[in-house]
Amino acid sequence: MEHVIIIGAGPCGLSAAVALQREGLSPLVIEKSSIVNAIYLYPTYLQFFSTPELLEIGGYPFTTPHEKPYRQEALVYYREVARREQLRIQSYEEVISIEKLDAGFHVQTTNPFGQKKSYTAQHVIVATGYFDHPNLLGIPGEDSPKTTHYYKEAHPYTGTKVAIIGGNNSAVDAAMDLIRVGAEVTVIYRGPHFSANIKPWVRPIFESMVNKGRIRMWFNSQVERIEEHTVLVRKESEHVTLDNDFVLALTGFRPDRHLLTSIGVTFHEETNAPLVDPETMETNIPGLYVAGVVASSKYDANEIFIESGRLHGLAITKHIRSAISGRPTR
Ligand code: FAD
Repeated sequence: MEHVIIIGAGPCGLSAAVALQREGLSPLVIEKSSIVNAIYLYPTYLQFFSTPELLEIGGYPFTTPHEKPYRQEALVYYREVARREQLRIQSYEEVISIEKLDAGFHVQTTNPFGQKKSYTAQHVIVATGYFDHPNLLGIPGEDSPKTTHYYKEAHPYTGTKVAIIGGNNSAVDAAMDLIRVGAEVTVIYRGPHFSANIKPWVRPIFESMVNKGRIRMWFNSQVERIEEHTVLVRKESEHVTLDNDFVLALTGFRPDRHLLTSIGVTFHEETNAPLVDPETMETNIPGLYVAGVVASSKYDANEIFIESGRLHGLAITKHIRSAISGRPTR
């Protein structure tokens, strides 16, 4: 039986793994893709909004010549931490169920070939993040090949007509990128004015692009249907048909909680966040913990991010260590 299984090798799962490893507990990390897969899926040339020291885990310095690191640097950083710590990471294995046993847990996984594997562990930490589950619009055409919830880079959109749905940082960054390759960009946003969440150093540039007419921005607007060559938009109280080649639906993400609900974790009535002891991140199931974005409210997945979620592993480790040695946590 494993002491601890961590589900998900994002920054928060890795942070927990390093903390446990330092306590001699050698956790097993099970990851359905490659490590820090969410960061791998970010836009290729993304620059973080956080400064590097706030992304650090395990006390490893995150050095960069930039004020804020780029995606590529973060991939190197987290990969290197995992390598230096010799973390036990089982990649390309997805956890499909967690079951409570009299003592500990039974964890079942499947790999891309459908082969199943079982593990048992005294403690389980769920750190499955949110990036696999975009907020869907639920409109006709959302599943068409010209629509994506993940923006990577501008080149494929050269000279095309692109509708961006959303008004936060991902939408703004993509819009500014796309005009550089000669795309005709319309940002369709349901909010009444520029979002307060836009990075303060980006906002004036974006606003100026909009004011100069280089980016078309429609407020109080919602896409209602995506068709082969057009999108139908409800703009204020009128309906407008917009010529269109591609749709980037950059509407954010929400955590998938099915592993937690199926084992009986309880959730906050209003926020729908898993109910945990904030000092230990333990759920109502003794020995089952949450770390990172999966612990956030269903309505605001951005309330936890790497800067804050990386600290969960330290609290969990302290609790597990004291449970094993029979010492009280506080
Ligand atoms: P994730 O990073 O999502 O990792 C979860 C892991 O679990 C994934 O690798 C996934 O493949 C794996 N997984 C999921 N389900 C299973 C399963 N059933 N079995 C096995 N493995 C599974 N945050 C900041 O602090 N600063 C920033 O500057 C910043 N910039 C951002 C920019 C963008 C464009 C985006 C989208 C987010 C940004 N964030 C930033 C937020 C940050 O990416 C997330 O907060 C962070 O990834 C959360 O880490 P996590 O470990 O909780 O989850």
